[in-house]
Amino acid sequence: MKGTPIIPPVCLSATYKFKNSDELIDVVQNRNGYLYSRWDNPTVVEAEKELALMEHYDKALGFSSGMAAITTAIISSVKNGDRIVSSRQVYGATFEFLNDYLPQLGVETTFVDCWDTDGFQRELAKGATVLYLESPTNPLLRVLDIAGLTSMAHDQDCLVFCDSTFASPINQHPSNYGVDITIHSATKYLGGHHDITAGFLCCNKNHYDQLWSYRKVLGGVMDPMTAMLAQRGMQTLALRINCQNQNALAIAKILDKHESIDAVYYPGLQSHPDYSIAKTQLTGFGGMMSFEVKGDFDTTKLFVDSLKVIKIATSLGGVSTLINQPITNTHVALTPENRSKAGIKENLVRLSVGVESLDKLIGDLKQALAKLKR
Ligand SMILES: *Cc1c(COP(=O)(O)O)cnc(C)c1O
Repeated sequence: MKGTPIIPPVCLSATYKFKNSDELIDVVQNRNGYLYSRWDNPTVVEAEKELALMEHYDKALGFSSGMAAITTAIISSVKNGDRIVSSRQVYGATFEFLNDYLPQLGVETTFVDCWDTDGFQRELAKGATVLYLESPTNPLLRVLDIAGLTSMAHDQDCLVFCDSTFASPINQHPSNYGVDITIHSATKYLGGHHDITAGFLCCNKNHYDQLWSYRKVLGGVMDPMTAMLAQRGMQTLALRINCQNQNALAIAKILDKHESIDAVYYPGLQSHPDYSIAKTQLTGFGGMMSFEVKGDFDTTKLFVDSLKVIKIATSLGGVSTLINQPITNTHVALTPENRSKAGIKENLVRLSVGVESLDKLIGDLKQALAKLKR
């Protein structure tokens, strides 16, 4: 039959057959083909190629979740007695892994506030195997100086990881600054439709074999259906992100002036503490923001509950606009004291702006804010 599919076929095969034993032996020894889908799968490889191109790395590796990608990258890079220096403002489960689980394997992590450049310099000078960064941060959208921090780490022969999930490969390229391993939770922008749980690591050839071997053994590989959906999501990533950048900037400006809002945290506003670094490091300010509603927790809840278009949910990065109060979910484990240290107030809400029409979103936010005056 003539004609080949436009869409790469989803290859669900868990294993692969060979003409003869020598062919199988060749694949096992030279990794020049497919043997078993925990090792490699053609549909997953398609998605990996797409992301590697977008992020300007030689290679990408698909995982079953963002956390599978993160834990595999870290475990593959440290051994008993090693030390990690990490930004304190990292994803909750990443913090839990570094702070609670890794010490049991003899690996200690020192956390530094992400804006404390001197603190990073001091801690890196003491020696570290990995510098772990995440930018922009959740939920206050702090933007780290990836170039500066990476060069400090490389001066000490320390590897640099950067979780770039919030920026997506459209708004930021950690590879430009020499980051060794760039991380994405594809559950968010890459998938983009709230229908997959997935993650990726991006790296150059020098780090690939080690990450591949650890993925093979730890087993957190991406499955083929998810790979197809991730790859499909990536086809529209630029369109979606450009729309989300525009929607979010417009919403941030309106909320910033609104009488029922105390503060807006969006890196595209001049009032944001990292506006100047954001302007050079990001090519778009992104679809994520947070803001404080004038009033207490219950007033904030009334606002959230009054929204009709915007949905109450955790997660982010998809086509639908989602809202939640960080202290009820992502930051629920923090004590009131640690919460206040982290700058996460009871009236804070986080908004993941989607691709709905801007008028519809603004109308929804305004009608919900109007409820608070009665
Ligand atoms: C969601 C998220 C993760 C974890 O990804 P999962 O796909 O949920 O495992 C890691 N980092 C950031 C910044 C995230 O937003």
